[in-house]
Amino acid sequence: ANKAAVTVIGLGPMGQAMAGAYLEAGYEVTVWNRTAARAATLVARGAHRAETVEEALAANELVILSLTDYDAMYAILEPAAAALRGRVLVNLSSDTPERAREAAAWAAGHGAEHLTGGVQTPPSGIGSPESSTFYSGPKEVFEAHEAALKVLTGADYRGTDPGLAALYYQIQMDMFWTAMLSYLHATAVTAANGITAQEFLPYAQSTMASLPNFLAFYAPRIDAGNHEGDVDKLAMGVASVEHVLHTTEGSGVGTALPAAVLEVFRRGVERGYGGDSFTRLLDVFREG
Ligand code: NDP
Repeated sequence: ANKAAVTVIGLGPMGQAMAGAYLEAGYEVTVWNRTAARAATLVARGAHRAETVEEALAANELVILSLTDYDAMYAILEPAAAALRGRVLVNLSSDTPERAREAAAWAAGHGAEHLTGGVQTPPSGIGSPESSTFYSGPKEVFEAHEAALKVLTGADYRGTDPGLAALYYQIQMDMFWTAMLSYLHATAVTAANGITAQEFLPYAQSTMASLPNFLAFYAPRIDAGNHEGDVDKLAMGVASVEHVLHTTEGSGVGTALPAAVLEVFRRGVERGYGGDSFTRLLDVFREG
């Protein structure tokens, strides 16, 4: 009767991996999914399939949500809202900080706690402590359930604001997609010049691996408001990005990406920042 227990609602690839990790860790696991058939493998491994959302909520205080987005959560939980009282909803569905804040207020209105989560691993990383998930929401709630959450991945608690975990998740995605697109673009240029992705790989990796040093150099200067052009000048950056654009053009590859980058640099120069570091472009972003 003292066995640790958890409810998992949502059995996409992520929810399946999560429920599986809890079974592996010896938890008593109750699952619910809109498409009930997705529970079959888990039930064969010992999970209990709740017939209704109410039953899934009643089974355990700790309720993990792994759904496409927050709309899916409302679609599932609104009709069962009376069963939310006293539950701890750990929402591992991705969405925006604003949506996470709304959801926390909505849960509180039904007598439930809400922890926002931002999972930074694909399903294959679930159950591994080297993977990491951002959490935010009430600290005491996080601490009370920290051990259970760490069955899934490492846990990085970001603060009480329910939007924070979503924010950290989204800024990571912001960097991830832009960086990966830069890689794809460079790969298109190399391919146009008869160089394979495999041949380019060590050079692409080396460029990516150099970035942490630049971030470490610029971060304290950014916080200090120091955009001095002692190491790099925006005007030099414009010339450099122009060379990239022309190389792209000369290779017969579409210039949408370097043209967008060049536009940001040019706006910085137009505002009179040509002698400052490229970090001055923060002002261009801020002012829109
Ligand atoms: P899916 O989109 O495959 O999750 C689908 C789940 O949401 C299913 O249980 C589905 O039910 C349910 N669902 C969707 N819409 C509704 C609805 N309107 N009503 C009821 N249920 C609904 O995503 P994943 O499992 O891949 O991921 C879950 C979350 O984790 C997502 O927010 C994703 O962004 C995030 N994430 C995923 C990663 C990945 O690699 N997969 C990596 C990091 C984060 P049904 O089975 O009935 O369709």
